[in-house]
Amino acid sequence: MSRPRRVAIIGAGLGGLAAACALADYGFVGEVVIIDAKTGFRNDRTWCWWDVPGVPFRDEVSHRWHAWSVGTEGCGAVSRSAQHPYIHLSGERYYRLARHKIEQSLDVRWQWNTSVTGIVDRGDSVLVRSSEAIMSVDIAIDARGQLPFSSPLVQYFVGEHIRADRPVFQPDTVRLMDFRYDAHGLAFTYVLPYSTTEALVEDTLIGNSVDFPARRAALSAYLARRHGLERWEVVRGESGVIAMNARAVPSRPSPRVFLAGAAAGATRAATGYTYVRAHRHADRLARAIIDGEPLRSPGKWRYRALDALLIAALRHRAIDGVRFFTSLFHATPADALARFMSDASTLADEAAVITGAASAFAAASMLDPHARRQVAGLTIAPA
Ligand SMILES: Cc1cc2nc3c(=O)[nH]c(=O)nc-3n(C[C@H](O)[C@H](O)[C@H](O)COP(=O)(O)OP(=O)(O)OC[C@H]3O[C@@H](n4cnc5c(N)ncnc54)[C@H](O)[C@@H]3O)c2cc1C
Repeated sequence: MSRPRRVAIIGAGLGGLAAACALADYGFVGEVVIIDAKTGFRNDRTWCWWDVPGVPFRDEVSHRWHAWSVGTEGCGAVSRSAQHPYIHLSGERYYRLARHKIEQSLDVRWQWNTSVTGIVDRGDSVLVRSSEAIMSVDIAIDARGQLPFSSPLVQYFVGEHIRADRPVFQPDTVRLMDFRYDAHGLAFTYVLPYSTTEALVEDTLIGNSVDFPARRAALSAYLARRHGLERWEVVRGESGVIAMNARAVPSRPSPRVFLAGAAAGATRAATGYTYVRAHRHADRLARAIIDGEPLRSPGKWRYRALDALLIAALRHRAIDGVRFFTSLFHATPADALARFMSDASTLADEAAVITGAASAFAAASMLDPHARRQVAGLTIAPA
């Protein structure tokens, strides 16, 4: 195939923008059109990950935390890392930075409010059919988000950036997972403290049904129970559903069509983290388009195997998820686990994670009858 000159990117979310940024980094020469069904960028989410070298915009983050906790309400393990803090980039800032970089380096056209209905590889070109027109390009990058495949387990969550009327948060420690079992399955609250009075608080359920009002009610109950709050101001809200599916997705379904972002399987199946992997995949995708290098699915098979094992154990209720995650974070050195979570682990890190996971699996599968009833969803913890 000769060097492509016209590329269409379908989807201006993380995956599509990461692909465009990588094309800019690798010196793509030609026209790029970015098509999205939405009307423009919205501050619709935040991105957090553990800081590792080589990830775009890591110097632009607004917050860094060197400590994080995992446990059940009131007790659990606190991990610390000087080298790999947990970092935060708002959606608004990411979209602005990515857009600036793309417009500085590429001949780009943005096409908003346009829903793509078909992408057809015709051998010598690709036809992109949309609500507006049919367009012919050399290459199409499909970054329309997670494909609606069926997943036995989903993570769904509701989050609110809240402002409390008095200091209630501990600003130096992220509460990654504050667990409990509720009527629908294994649930946890995530608290990202921006200050003593402001935080992004998110309620997540790992289950197989989606009920956002129930998550919102659980979030309010948590703030009242854990922080004694009766009133708070909601600055911004976000929500999402993430399929927990460890299957590898082919990144190049046909010679002229590539997948990026969650559509390419860049989402870590067991955790939902996507930012780092989507950017690493975008780098390889740009090299495949510009230099014809081969392209593999995002993420190492070893990560997928561990994710698949954990998901199967949770799905078949073979383990107590609370004990598993608490023991995993307690038993694994924080730096190794942080690199593993951000797709930057060495073989030694992976050995440490496997050792930590083995002891966590052992701790989590030795359930007393009460815990077993809870895991099976028969006992409902008080809200
Ligand atoms: C609220 C929230 C918070 C998250 N927080 C984190 C986090 O902290 N860290 C992390 O690593 N990951 C996080 N994730 C997971 C992951 O990073 C995001 O889901 C990420 O945005 C996925 O990027 P994407 O580009 O693949 O999909 P999306 O961001 O969903 O973008 C897909 C784009 O395609 C467009 N589109 C869809 N269909 C069409 C069509 N037919 N025609 C044209 N355009 C179309 C959509 O409008 C959208 O703009 C979070 C996810 C959510 C929902």
